[in-house]
Amino acid sequence: MLQGKIAIVTGASRGIGRATAIELGRNGANVVVNYAGSQERAEQVVAEIKALGVDALAIQADVANAEQVQAMVKETIDAFGRVDILVNNAGITKDNLIMRMKEDEWDAVINTNLKGVFNCGKAVTRQMMKQRYGRIINVASVVGVLGNAGQANYVAAKAGVIGLTKTMARELANRNIHVNAVAPGFIETDMTDELGDDMKGQLLSQIPLATLGKPENIANVIRFLASPDADYMTGQTLHVDGGMVM
Ligand code: NAD
Repeated sequence: MLQGKIAIVTGASRGIGRATAIELGRNGANVVVNYAGSQERAEQVVAEIKALGVDALAIQADVANAEQVQAMVKETIDAFGRVDILVNNAGITKDNLIMRMKEDEWDAVINTNLKGVFNCGKAVTRQMMKQRYGRIINVASVVGVLGNAGQANYVAAKAGVIGLTKTMARELANRNIHVNAVAPGFIETDMTDELGDDMKGQLLSQIPLATLGKPENIANVIRFLASPDADYMTGQTLHVDGGMVM
């Protein structure tokens, strides 16, 4: 369904980003595997995608850094000639109660999770406008809707991503650039591995489907939003959360 499309997935060396990059590749897209940390892991994802018979390229860039993001988009266009799909997946947590939260914890999470979406969205926009085609999918979170004690920075960033998604969707609709978001619930990745058993038990009790999600559950919905099946959708946030938000 994505034959010949060029996709950038941020934070794609592990977790939801990795599963998404592979899912887009499986559906025919050539994929830029963005990473900030381990090049080795990113190259492993590239190898897995190439084994599916499409092209892939690992590009290092910190999404919080506008210059690095611009260089990544330029390298993508130099290599593939266009950018059709952007998945803004990169994210971090630095949890603390608000009275204990340090300014650098606030800044780091806002800069990666919210400014990163702005940086990457802005960097691909000129090219997508020229093409009169683009599909941008932002990874938010159900906590951006529900709130969550101990995550003021993360929740503010994810609520911001939902608002930014709607605004980008309105600004870019007339150029055939669709902007949607996916809000995962509780997904088993390295990010949630760090949570204690108490917190995991508490979260599980809030999930009507009574099971944790897998990265593939999110990747499948992102692939849908990137595909022609979602051609009449923009500005939406799909909750993929076992029923946490309803
Ligand atoms: P993860 O920690 O496994 O993966 C995050 C990836 O982002 C890593 O590869 C990391 O290197 C990369 N990254 C971090 N900072 C970056 C930066 N500045 N520039 C580029 N890459 C950077 O986490 P995950 O669970 O796969 O999370 C992926 C996305 O899903 C995040 O946006 C997260 O907030 C969101 N999310 C996850 C859950 C969950 O339960 N796991 C729930 C809701 C939302």
